Amino acid sequence: MRILNGYEPERVFYYFEELAGIPHGSGNTKEISDYLVAFAKTHGLAWEQDASNNVIIRKPASQGYENAPAVILQGHCDMVCEKLPGSAHDFSKDGLKLGVEGDEIYAAETTLGGDDGIAVAFMLAVLEDETLAHPALEAVITSDEEIGLLGAAALDTSALKGRILLNMDSEEEGILTVSCAGGMTSVMELPVGRDEASGVQYRVEIAGLQGGHSGVEIDKNRANANLLMGRLLHGLDLRMEFALAELEGGNKDNAIPRSCAAELVIGSEDEEALLEYLAKLQEQLRREYAGSDEGIVVTAKKLGSGTAPVLNMISRQKVLFFLMNLPDGIQKMSAQIPGLVETSLNLGVLRLYPEKLEAVCSVRSSVGSARDALGEKLEYLAEFLGGGYLAQGVYPAWEYQADTPLQKLAVSAYEELFGAAPKVEAIHAGLECGLFYEKLPGLDCISFGPDMKNVHTTEERLSISSTERTYRYLRKLLESIR
Ligand SMILES: [Zn+2]
Repeated sequence: MRILNGYEPERVFYYFEELAGIPHGSGNTKEISDYLVAFAKTHGLAWEQDASNNVIIRKPASQGYENAPAVILQGHCDMVCEKLPGSAHDFSKDGLKLGVEGDEIYAAETTLGGDDGIAVAFMLAVLEDETLAHPALEAVITSDEEIGLLGAAALDTSALKGRILLNMDSEEEGILTVSCAGGMTSVMELPVGRDEASGVQYRVEIAGLQGGHSGVEIDKNRANANLLMGRLLHGLDLRMEFALAELEGGNKDNAIPRSCAAELVIGSEDEEALLEYLAKLQEQLRREYAGSDEGIVVTAKKLGSGTAPVLNMISRQKVLFFLMNLPDGIQKMSAQIPGLVETSLNLGVLRLYPEKLEAVCSVRSSVGSARDALGEKLEYLAEFLGGGYLAQGVYPAWEYQADTPLQKLAVSAYEELFGAAPKVEAIHAGLECGLFYEKLPGLDCISFGPDMKNVHTTEERLSISSTERTYRYLRKLLESIR
């Protein structure tokens, strides 16, 4: 039985439900890609499919639009797979269990994949509708966006004629996005040497931080547990002799780390001073981060006494110097767009291995040269300390251009339809637009989408009424590109 029967626009929700029935987590997109090809065949539309499971479907201009510039419609077909603890859902073979609550669509126990299934549903509804007025269309459905924009990066764009691109991977109605950050994952490694040390062993932890997304939440003044641990250790170094055996914080380069733990060896005469210092530091941090992270806890757990392999003196000093001097957080705000973070980084992962320290940062900037300069700074710091540096997953920025022809059209179409001006914004996160912007010289691009909440979580919700308005807007926009 269809859950989304009876909701408008009927064909959009029809296809959204079709897509929800096909497993399509990132890295598992062959089946959904084949579904799109079958759709094109059924509707007599030209199509291409590549080895990455990207699909392009073409539709000629409707009558009267033969001379209008071709338009690229774009979204991604993969979704983030999250499920509730204990859920038996198998993302490799089960379809989603859709439900409706009020104005919202959800999937029971799992992510919904409204990000970005709704874009694909929009495209299929437009492609099959013979009553719409539109220029020649190139619907580009990419794969594996959620694991590093892989499909868009691999896509051969040489056959694309359009230089106007409508990306539909945004999550707030009424906002037209016109620029996004580029970025990379910067991996730094410092080789370390070890000695043995005897004394009392403590596990010290900084926890209880809010964390968050290293792009969209980097401007929320949230503390970074890995860097606070650097401060803790350096402060300790000023107060007593200690040795460092273990260090571990954060899980993902693009998440602000919520906790970091270290194992220390100290002399038994310093136990009291250690506990006093940590209590005082907790109080200071709570005051410094009032309003964002006043829940910070700094704890120490005694593990026992004995001998452990610890960093030798020089390695320990290098690790402390590195953590005290690594830049982090906002580096520059945009002077063109008020409130936009232009360049930032986040030390997401910190791990001490027997023979090296590994530090992984997510670097972002909406200006390509600023991203590269920050990477060079990190490389210099790591190499100065005898370590190495590697940039992975580099993706380009979609740089801001003011008042392009498409932006003007998109704003006036919105005003005509809804009687109010949309917000025109830039975001400090990645979108596939950056890759298209780089590959298609002269591209004019905007991104928009219907209201969604809690994407990438099991609480993901898609607004039905917002989907209806956004689809009307898409049709209006296509009609006005002549
Ligand atoms: Zn997305």
